[in-house]
Amino acid sequence: MPTITLRNAEKSYGGTAVKAVRDLNLEIGDGEFMCLLGPSGCGKTTTLRMISGLEHLSSGEISVGDRVVDCVGTGTFVTAEKRGMGLVFQSYALWPHMTIERNTDFGLRLRKVPKAERQERVEKVMKTLGIDKYRDRYPSQLSGGQQQRVALARMLAVNPEVLLLDEPLSNLDARLRLEMRAELKRIHEEFKTTIVFVTHDQWEAMTLATSIAVMSEGELQQVGSPNDIYDRPANRFVAEFVGSPPINIIEVEDRNASALAGLAQSYFARTYPQIDGIGSVGMRPEALGFARDVRALPKGAINGEAVVTGVLPTGGSWIIELLTQQTKLFLTTHLPPQVNDGEKGFFYAKPEALHVFDAQ
Ligand code: ADP
Ligand code: MG
Repeated sequence: MPTITLRNAEKSYGGTAVKAVRDLNLEIGDGEFMCLLGPSGCGKTTTLRMISGLEHLSSGEISVGDRVVDCVGTGTFVTAEKRGMGLVFQSYALWPHMTIERNTDFGLRLRKVPKAERQERVEKVMKTLGIDKYRDRYPSQLSGGQQQRVALARMLAVNPEVLLLDEPLSNLDARLRLEMRAELKRIHEEFKTTIVFVTHDQWEAMTLATSIAVMSEGELQQVGSPNDIYDRPANRFVAEFVGSPPINIIEVEDRNASALAGLAQSYFARTYPQIDGIGSVGMRPEALGFARDVRALPKGAINGEAVVTGVLPTGGSWIIELLTQQTKLFLTTHLPPQVNDGEKGFFYAKPEALHVFDAQ
């Protein structure tokens, strides 16, 4: 399938002035696994529905390759059925009176695919998703997770060029969700389907996506690879939304507020000519270290005095809570920490591990 392009796409529901999606420009390339990521209400489902043709744009344009499928200016609108995209929603509807095999076959029958081809595709897709052993059961005889697989299988059987998935794993328990993620990744590699996947779960997006589009309040914040989003967040919202424990943020507005702000300031004053524009500085928990002695600090690291105020084991790793003059910092480590509550020392980080965010 050619590239899907959204140009200045906007949506307000029922003629209200509130825009569920605002001036969205996004390209989804062939074979991409694009995750739309953001908190509840930020416009992810609306975006997916606009791409699928279930929702008309209020302004802007969507095209698939050279073909415009929705354009308010010219009044062009291609219906959902004619866009050839497969949709799976959080609440999936299987036919209760049909066996799993019949359910999987459903879309193919609808499209009047010849029997031999249908059987072959149904077999392949049921095996891939591990539901072939349930072929003669009815949906009510399967668990929620198994039903969700059937919903996916039904979609994949028709081999859509684009698969649109709206939080399809949200009803599953943690283990099954992980298994399904791995399966989706395999499916993506095997079927070469373009996937647009909506989630509010940063881990899900990080583990699945080739590209992530982060949204907030109807607006696109950043598009990039999972590494881009994590290592080079475009703004404070993206930095805070991705990462757990969350990134440490130090407000710079009160320049004398903390030792760290001062240090960050002196570092960035060299690289950022307009220090006045800096609103805050962020540091990922894993980019921080703690040293008892000033002589143990790595060369060139920014540092400041800190007291250990908590050591929290999280099973396989630890979170250390530090208190600087006025700011609390969280540090993560995979090595058993050799520090105790109340111990005094220095936190440190490489200057390049700091993220600088504009004043808002
Ligand atoms: P998300 O999927 O990211 O949670 P949605 O796209 O569902 O967000 O919603 C974006 C905004 O649009 C929200 O403020 C929501 O309340 C509003 N909205 C969604 N669907 C409708 C609708 N059918 N009518 C009116 N407002 C809606
Ligand atoms: Mg939604």
